[in-house]
Amino acid sequence: MIDGHAHLNEIKDIDASILRAASSGVSAIIGVGMDIESNRATLEIAGRFPGIVYPAVGYHPWSIAAHETEENLAFIEDRLPSCVALGEVGIDYRTKVKKKVQWEVYGRLISVAHEADKPVIIHCRFSHAHTYEMTASAGIERAVFHWFTGERAVLTRLLDSGYLISVTPALAYSPFHREAAAFAPLESIMVETDAPVQYEGKISEPADLIVTLRELARIKGISVEEAARVTEKNTRSFYRLS
Ligand SMILES: [Zn+2]
Repeated sequence: MIDGHAHLNEIKDIDASILRAASSGVSAIIGVGMDIESNRATLEIAGRFPGIVYPAVGYHPWSIAAHETEENLAFIEDRLPSCVALGEVGIDYRTKVKKKVQWEVYGRLISVAHEADKPVIIHCRFSHAHTYEMTASAGIERAVFHWFTGERAVLTRLLDSGYLISVTPALAYSPFHREAAAFAPLESIMVETDAPVQYEGKISEPADLIVTLRELARIKGISVEEAARVTEKNTRSFYRLS
């Protein structure tokens, strides 16, 4: 099974955490970045765990600052070709950065991904419809709407466009998240932890991927093995892992 989204640079004692993940059956982890510093750290971790950690570079809406934008974009443009994806990027309507600024940065980022033929890992909190519109009209072919909790109408359209959603351990308690997981076909779902995000007060790590899989299996009425098998296949094909 593959953890499709983790902030490895934020995990304490990352080596031990990756070992625990491996012994719980996690064969690979996609490490995502949010700004130059976390992108660099993620690339460094990926370099130490070849074939296990695959890096993505991004510029998170929470990280956007006018005086750093050009530098972040240049860094991503330079490093993206050697990464598996652009991410984490997106639009967040509950953060302080102005909408107009977020739209402009997101638009530029996805055009870099389009140019490099890389998939996009999207943070779309309270911005699902607009984020979908921008992604689709930029001609992006591979996109994952991370931790999707949006409305059914947007979900239907993004699935029709061939995009995926990802699910997290929040499946255990978030009604909107559960609803999306129930509606989307299993072939359109990837599993992740978003580690080290806390779920009900507990700090997560990639080894907790099994929690996500158990919840997904329960929602779908299938075995954990089947959920693991199909979502791993989805993830390998989305990120073009061998
Ligand atoms: Zn994240």
